[in-house]
Amino acid sequence: MQNYILQSYRSLDACTRAILKKIITKTREETLQLGLTIGQRVPDRNVIALRGDLGAGKTTLCKGIGKGLGIEEEITSPTYTIVAEYQGRLTFYHIDAYRLGGFSDFQAIGALEFLGAPNSLCVIEWIERLPEIESECTAFITIKMLTDDSREFWIEGNWLEDLL
Ligand code: ADP
Ligand code: MG
Repeated sequence: MQNYILQSYRSLDACTRAILKKIITKTREETLQLGLTIGQRVPDRNVIALRGDLGAGKTTLCKGIGKGLGIEEEITSPTYTIVAEYQGRLTFYHIDAYRLGGFSDFQAIGALEFLGAPNSLCVIEWIERLPEIESECTAFITIKMLTDDSREFWIEGNWLEDLL
């Protein structure tokens, strides 16, 4: 966990826009609700980076974001396909970098073409695997597991700060 704290502060230095806000959810449903609020109001062209251990709640948050964007299809973890595309209020590119070999694999799936594209929202799980992309991200959400059912969200990014 210490590692995440250091990473978080590093990105805080890197982008002066970043403000750190903490939100605690006590159930999976509260995390879905947090995602829903983000999905309903997020402006297009944003790229949200998610950090956190396996089971932290990254995909759960994405399910809520999908719902907030008005996507009826079930959002599932694109661990093997790396990227899943959904159509809602915005085109939602859900990326899971966990199994990505590195930045060249990311380029090979054509990701640089849709990252930050008009009328789109990109959310990247496991941004730790793609340090080259960090500078393209407009917000960072770090999820810390407090207990079985509660999670702490560290939120960086001005627009997100205003939203929540
Ligand atoms: P990740 O994508 O980070 O690996 P998932 O979203 O797939 O994590 O899984 C999170 C797991 O933790 C789910 O089984 C979910 O039910 C459980 N969980 C328990 N409490 C919470 C909470 N407050 N927020 C999100 N998930 C929670
Ligand atoms: Mg996941």
